[in-house]
Parts: sequence; structure tokens; C-alpha cells
Amino acid sequence: MENVVIVGSGAAGLTAAIYASRANLEPVVISGILPGGLLTQTSDVENYPGFPDAVNGFELMMKFEQQAKNFGTKVINDIVVKSELVDGGPHKLTLKSGEVVEANALIIATGASPRWLGLESEDKLKNKGVSACATCDGAFFRDVPVVVIGGGDTAMEEAIFLTKFASKVYVVHRRDELRASKIMGERAQKNPKIEFLWSHVVEEVLGENEVKGVRVKSLKDDSEKVIEVKGYFAALGHVPNNQVFNGFINMDQAGYIQLDSNSSYTNVDGVFAAGDCADHVYRQAITAAGMGCRAAIDAERWLEAKSH
Ligand code: NDP
Repeated sequence: MENVVIVGSGAAGLTAAIYASRANLEPVVISGILPGGLLTQTSDVENYPGFPDAVNGFELMMKFEQQAKNFGTKVINDIVVKSELVDGGPHKLTLKSGEVVEANALIIATGASPRWLGLESEDKLKNKGVSACATCDGAFFRDVPVVVIGGGDTAMEEAIFLTKFASKVYVVHRRDELRASKIMGERAQKNPKIEFLWSHVVEEVLGENEVKGVRVKSLKDDSEKVIEVKGYFAALGHVPNNQVFNGFINMDQAGYIQLDSNSSYTNVDGVFAAGDCADHVYRQAITAAGMGCRAAIDAERWLEAKSH
């Protein structure tokens, strides 16, 4: 039986591990589908405090892991395929390898995966001009045109953000009406640097080793055209990686874990959550790390109270 098991090894999970291991709780981290989390998929991280000259996302996460291990965290490179969560614990997790791990306290930090269109050309050019995070990668596209795909609040926010750098921002949306809130939609439509391609879909991202443009198709008349861009930003929403906890943990309609107000407590006693799996609003490395810290402190206090 483990004291604390943390599912997920991104900024939230590993920060929880640093705190829990410093508190001598000997946490076990199950690394999950993407060891190191989403940050390992970006190049330079320029907005993580403490690194004025930027830091490579992968290297940053390796440092998180090393720091957690230095204090006694054990990392298992595996995926949770089944969970059985009980109020007050113990919580049982079955891993892909067949191993079963039991925990008194469980911290869920499984993150969220960006939704992609799923085009082969999109996949090929990931990190070579194809991104799902304007906040992370926008500054690399100074004075060049870029395209944002999607019509939700994220697409509007990212398009507006990108106008600070890019010479022009195209927004390709599959309908002629936005899903975004009225205020965000209006703000984007008023921005002279943003041009909307309504009722259009992306057929192909062009380029071999860097993005050169996108081939789009009108859903009204099937006509196709190429727009020349250097950056491609998918803003199609995110999918939280919480499916394995369905039936136990309360989630909102989009699948994000619902937390007790201003804490990391979930509806199951002894189960805590941190990071993007429970946050569709901020989704930053630093906010995920902050949530991981909170979850570890909540778990520590919960274990302490339980032992009396
Ligand atoms: P949403 O799910 O709201 O929007 C996703 C967008 O991507 C939609 O316009 C959708 O089109 C489009 N899309 C999805 N799949 C495809 C596909 N296969 N092909 C083409 N287009 C596709 O996600 P967001 O990330 O924008 O927002 C998530 C939540 O976070 C929302 O509740 C939002 O309000 C909130 N949020 C709030 C912000 C704020 O208040 N500042 C900022 C960012 C997010 P369609 O519309 O046709 O379905």
C-alpha cells in the first residue's frame, strides 16, 4: 500500500511529487500517456519564472522529475487502465503492465490533450510550425502570417494574442457562426489584423520541414485555395485525460474534474486533482505546477488527519 500515488508526470504531477516527497510521503508517480506532460512537446518555454533566457520544455520537465526523485519519488513508466476509487481509500489502480497499485491518497494530474484535426500533414509538421498553444509558441512568429483553426473562445483568444507578433492572422472556422462568446468574437472581428475564412475546412498543411501554407476548402461551394502562412495553430479545444476515472469522479460536461471550491479535493474522499485535467481556463505550466503543490499539501493534511 502506497501513501500517495500521483497519476501523471506533467508540471502538476511532478510538482505534487516534489512537495509530497519533501514531506517524506514517498510518493509514487505513474507517468501516464506522455511522460513529462505537454511541456515536453513544446520547444522553448519563455514564460516559466526563473528562466530569463528561456528553457527547453523537455529539459524543464526532466529537471522537475530529477527534483522529485532527489527527495525520494518513485516513478513508474506505465499507464492506468482501470481505477476503483473508494471514499476514504484505499484506491486501486490497474496498470497496463498488469501491476495493481493501491494508494491511501490519490492525486490525479492526467492533463488534457489538445484536439487536432488528425491530418497526416498536420502531424508531420508538429513543432515545425504546427502548434496547439499560441501562448507557448506565438512569439516565434514575428512579422509573418499565421492561421488559427477553430471558432471557440480559445481560437479567438489565440488569434488576438497572435496579432501582437504576426503580420496577419487568418481564422479558419468550419461554420459561419462562432461558438465563442459574443464579446470575444466581436473583439476578434474588430481586429484589423484578423481575417476570417467562414465555412472553411483545412484539407492539408503545406510544407516539408516547415509550414508554408494551408490548403482550405469552402463548405459552401467546395472551392479550394491556398493561404500562405508560417504558423498553424489548432484551437479545437482540449480533451481531458480522465476517462479512466469515469463513474467515480465528478466531472463537468466536457470531462474536466470538478473540484471542491478553492481546493484540490474531488468528490471522492482522499482523491485530489491538479492541473489541466481539472482546469480548462488557465492551462499554463505555472498554474498546473501551483495546483500540484496545492494537491500535495491537501493530501498531506488529509493523511495526517486520517492517522489520528
Ligand atoms: P470549444 O470546444 O469551445 O471550441 C472548439 C472549436 O473548435 C469550435 O469552434 C469547433 O467548431 C472547432 N472544432 C472542433 N473540432 C473540429 C474539427 N474536427 N474540425 C473543425 N473545427 C473543429 O473549445 P475552446 O478551447 O475554445 O473552449 C473550451 C472552453 O473554455 C469553453 O467553455 C470556453 O468558453 C472556455 N474558454 C474561455 C476563455 C475565456 O473566457 N477567456 C478562453 C478560452 C476558453 P464548432 O463551433 O463548429 O463546433
